[in-house]
Amino acid sequence: MKQIRRVAIANRGEVAVRIIRACEELGLETVLLHSDVDIQSRAYRLATKTICIGPAATALSYLNIEANINGALAAGADAVHPGFGFLSENADFAQQCEKAGLVFVGPTSAAIRKLGDKVSFKNLAKKAGLPLIPGYDGEDQSVSGLLKEVEKIGLPVIVKAAAGGGGRGMKLIREMSEAKDLIESAQRESQSAFGSTQVFLEKYLERAKHIEFQIFGDCTGHVVHLFDRECSVQRRHQKIIEEATSPSLTDDLRRRMGEVACTIAALGKYTNAGTVEFLLQDDEFYLLEVNTRLQVEHPVTEEVLGIDLVKMQILTAQEKFIFSTNEIRIPRGHAIECRVYAEDPFMGGVPSTGLLGTVSWPEGPRRRYEYGFEAGDTITSNYDPMIAKVIVWDENRPRAIQKMVRTLKDSVIFGVHTNIPYLIQILNHPEFQSGKMTTRFIETYFAEGLKSDLTEDQIKKWAQEVNKNLKGSVTESNSLSLVSNLPSPWGSHWRAV
Ligand code: ADP
Repeated sequence: MKQIRRVAIANRGEVAVRIIRACEELGLETVLLHSDVDIQSRAYRLATKTICIGPAATALSYLNIEANINGALAAGADAVHPGFGFLSENADFAQQCEKAGLVFVGPTSAAIRKLGDKVSFKNLAKKAGLPLIPGYDGEDQSVSGLLKEVEKIGLPVIVKAAAGGGGRGMKLIREMSEAKDLIESAQRESQSAFGSTQVFLEKYLERAKHIEFQIFGDCTGHVVHLFDRECSVQRRHQKIIEEATSPSLTDDLRRRMGEVACTIAALGKYTNAGTVEFLLQDDEFYLLEVNTRLQVEHPVTEEVLGIDLVKMQILTAQEKFIFSTNEIRIPRGHAIECRVYAEDPFMGGVPSTGLLGTVSWPEGPRRRYEYGFEAGDTITSNYDPMIAKVIVWDENRPRAIQKMVRTLKDSVIFGVHTNIPYLIQILNHPEFQSGKMTTRFIETYFAEGLKSDLTEDQIKKWAQEVNKNLKGSVTESNSLSLVSNLPSPWGSHWRAV
């Protein structure tokens, strides 16, 4: 058994808070490894200890392996939780933690190399005869060679950065005449964002759904799947709304996909939490990739199964967590997560920064809020604009959708614009409600963002009402600045929609 007393958190925002909560419940101390601007955050206030590891620029702090390891060691931590994003899927980081005597809360560096690397994962899956999207991931990276492969696969084809992630570094080729330019620009972008020009090609699936399976390997190497999530609502290949379980899977598909997920995980000798992603089209499924870390959308799985994945991760790292063989897990009800972004949905989603004023999340049964910032904190442009996640659970999908709409309508965030009005429109869309949406749902119905239909008078009235409901906690200047924001009626999320 590995002794862990103090866990360093190599991350920020809501996931840092999530890890702190799990550690507190396990009686462990925490050390937040943070950048200088993040002293204004909930995680900074909640952690047992804090160590500044560098300036706001991520390359100098959250992505700096040495700074994180030195910070963890200096603070007397014996383990590191990487959260998601940043260094969470970096095999070198995991390895250097191992070398420095720090327990890495996640899979081994060897498993990250095998499964987290997109090309190595494809090779492993190919050898095992598992279903992959038709494509090319060979060594010939010359543009002429790649062009030939595009022709062989047949348009449309997607070019992806081998080292890419987070929906970045992808180009869609629809016409052969654009292919050369798109391949070259994918290579250039990949070089500047990920430090490598290596790309691979895949047939682009036009009517696909994104379905993923939560996998978990306990400390004995026993791997199970913890059911599926549907993440088809995406903008620019990034998820916005996620659900557990998927409304699209028959029992048979669920069983077969779950088996493939466990097979690939076992081949990679996977331990700890991970996610096997698939595209599903016309009842055929294809492996997309493995994310060797905790996923942003892990709470929906937790809600339908009544488990705590972060605690399971830490207990596994301590070599204390073993699945009991006769345990039966059955998902119950339906859970939905919405990612709340600081952006202006009426201005095409431009990021919105500023000082948070009143923030109020409406409490109620099975409503969960994961957030890293509160009133008085400043949302900056240094990082990802996701400021919170709202998660609800209910007995079935229609009720969960209804509950999410209600919850979002009653949520109040002053100081920055948010995508809440956008989320509500998506939740109310008939295709979303039917559960039939594909990954092109947003592009099809919400390509232009939202249009305001509120007048100046309506907004003033709304601001007065907010003031009354919040018992005057909104200052006059606050509501005035709100009205001065015209014509963008941010906040209409809880009245007009
Ligand atoms: P990343 O690692 O950057 O997240 P992924 O390969 O996981 O990239 O893909 C992200 C999203 O991009 C998918 O969920 C899907 O919506 C879209 N996508 C990726 N590959 C394909 C494909 N071959 N056909 C259709 N859509 C795709």
